Amino acid sequence: MSLGGCGEFGLIERIRAQVAGRDDILIGIGDDCSATALPAGEFLLTTTDLLIEEVHFRRDWTDLFALGRKAVAVNISDIAAMGGTPQSLSLGLGLPADLDPEDFDQLVAGILAGAREYGAVLSGGDTCRSPGGLLLSVTVLGHIAPALTLRRCGARAGDLLYVSGTLGDSALALRELLAGRTPEAGIAQRHHQPTARLALGRELAQRRLATAMIDLSDGLRADLGHILAASGVGARVEAAALPLSPVFRGAMMHDSGVFDLALAGGEDYELLWSAPPTAASPLAALSAELGLPLTCIGEIVAGHALRVVAADGVEILSPKVGYNHFG
Ligand code: ADP
Ligand code: MG
Repeated sequence: MSLGGCGEFGLIERIRAQVAGRDDILIGIGDDCSATALPAGEFLLTTTDLLIEEVHFRRDWTDLFALGRKAVAVNISDIAAMGGTPQSLSLGLGLPADLDPEDFDQLVAGILAGAREYGAVLSGGDTCRSPGGLLLSVTVLGHIAPALTLRRCGARAGDLLYVSGTLGDSALALRELLAGRTPEAGIAQRHHQPTARLALGRELAQRRLATAMIDLSDGLRADLGHILAASGVGARVEAAALPLSPVFRGAMMHDSGVFDLALAGGEDYELLWSAPPTAASPLAALSAELGLPLTCIGEIVAGHALRVVAADGVEILSPKVGYNHFG
């Protein structure tokens, strides 16, 4: 069985039948546009991510439910990075005609599960045949109070730098997959099923515990570089302070090159933010509340340089800087 013969409208109906409405979605799937009510006085946030077969994923490494959930999580991560709240999402699908209808249903189920997990409703999209591989384009719409919006440009010299969770696990899993090995289950999960730090992002904004923020999709060096460029500042990062999982530390013992994945590997989907030193104790309280490590990894300094230093003060240089599609 393949999708050929289901028809575009048959496929859309298969999706629509599974979507429950909600009061703030005035018009959902089925009209020319969707219509969504925003909380009074808040800004609309929009963000889009593309997932393309053979560029972002391989169908033999991931099941389509996981892929659908990941497509939503990576978008929600961008909303989290602004401190916002997701509300609805729009789904562009490019489907190979030979796709199995069961795989299609799994993909849609994963997307809807991801949407539910973060409180967003699927409100529209577009469905086309793809002559090549599978293509997913997810746009998430969310909202934020203007005064609380966390941008990349607010970091100031003297701020501390914080990161959530652990770094490098997803990149380590990908390295194992590329080498034809099976990654340990915990890090495989970090790669295939990333969690967007939505509650954390919202709390940081609401409690005003960050001056600038970004989510880590392209690696610490590259993404911190974006905060520094937008804010016109530099940073000093203490390599010894980077939060690393036990599995990651274990891999480092066999291969010191693994450490580079914590600095320059992608797809962590953790949050990275700057905060004044007065935020240290409220951040410790928030870490306990959320049951999530929030680690100070360095500080913002004057100038433009990003220096990562080892415990002995010697600068660590990485061979590559994050992932760049056209680099
Ligand atoms: P139009 O041609 O006016 O763009 P379509 O026939 O493409 O309309 O889509 C019909 C309805 O189904 C629209 O409301 C659209 O938003 C929705 N839709 C199409 N594809 C998807 C999808 N993949 N996920 C969710 N909704 C979809
Ligand atoms: Mg259309």
